[in-house]
Order: sequence, then C-alpha cells, then structure tokens
Amino acid sequence: MNIIILGAPGSGKGTQSAQLIQHFHLTHLSTGDMLRAEVAANSDLGQQAQAVMAKGQLVSDEIIIAMIAQRLSENGALFDGFPRTLAQAQALDTLLAGKSQQIDCVIHLQVENEEIITRMLARGRADDEESIIRQRLTVYTEQTAPLIAYYQEQGKLHSIQGSGEVSAISQQIIDVINARQ
Ligand code: AMP
Repeated sequence: MNIIILGAPGSGKGTQSAQLIQHFHLTHLSTGDMLRAEVAANSDLGQQAQAVMAKGQLVSDEIIIAMIAQRLSENGALFDGFPRTLAQAQALDTLLAGKSQQIDCVIHLQVENEEIITRMLARGRADDEESIIRQRLTVYTEQTAPLIAYYQEQGKLHSIQGSGEVSAISQQIIDVINARQ
C-alpha cells in the first residue's frame, strides 16, 4: 500500500505520518527530513538545498525525484511532503508503475492559513520565520495545490479537516484508509 499525505506546510503531515507508519507499518518517506539530514551532514546536495529551503522555495524536481527513486522499496510507503509539484507526481506514478505498484490513497489535510502560521511560529524551525512561512504557503498554493485536482480526478483524494485533536484526526485518517482496502 502506498499513501500520500498532502497538505500545506504546518498542516500536521509530519505528526500524522508518525501515527500512520506505526499503525500500518509503512516506510516513512519525508523529503523534508531527507533534505534536513543532507544539510546537517553538509553534503553537496545539502549545501545546494540549504539556500533554497531557507528562502521557502522548492528544491528542484530532479534532485527530489532522484532522492525518492533511491529509497522506493518493494513494500509500501507513506509519502510525506512529496510530491509537491505535478512533475513530481507524474514521476512518482512512473516509478511505482515500474514496480507494478501505484498510489492507493491520498490524504489531504485541510487547515486554515492563519492557524498554520500560528502553529509554525510556535514550532520555531529555521525556515519558520513569518515572511518565509507566508512564502512557503504561496508556493504551496501555486505549485502543490494543483495536485488536489490531479488525485481527485483519479478518485484517490480524501480531504480531512486537519484542526483539532491529533488522535481524533489520526483515527479519521485510519478509517478512510481502511475503507479503501
Ligand atoms: P517540509 O519539511 O516538507 O516542509 O520541507 C522543508 C523544505 O524542504 C521545503 O520548504 C522545501 O524547500 C524542501 N522540500 C521538501 N520536500 C520537497 C519536495 N517534495 N519538493 C521540493 N522541495 C521540497
């Protein structure tokens, strides 16, 4: 089973992913975590990505797709923070098809922008300064939100209200995924 968790930065993708990988025993593939590990290791890729991440822009599709291609396995994955562009979504479909797999379910976490900004300011990560947060939300609207229609057309999209109790949201997501199997 391959699942995507889709939503704006700060919508709770990481928090919900932690619950879901435990429940469904999926491999967690978070491109944001991978990039932060590259930055921490001061690798060539990390050095390239750091400036782009600090500005709230997206790292190139080429780098991201190569990172994911390396980590795909025969077992299912939970994709968190990926895909973020239509090109990434199409590349993922092709990569999975090569393994006779597909995306089974896309969970779209919906949270209002003002709540997102409050949450992210509280989180205090390096790229969580208010002007950068607003930039990341604009990038989400322009480049990532079109994926909602992409997966809706495939009948794979399930939108869930992402504000409220973490455990109640997790339960809703688990119910949606179970209903699909
Ligand atoms: P995240 O932790 O998912 O919010 O990612 C943090 C930052 O890493 C983003 O603001 C982007 O600069 C970069 N990033 C993470 N995932 C991707 C992706 N799939 N495509 C492009 N850039 C990404």
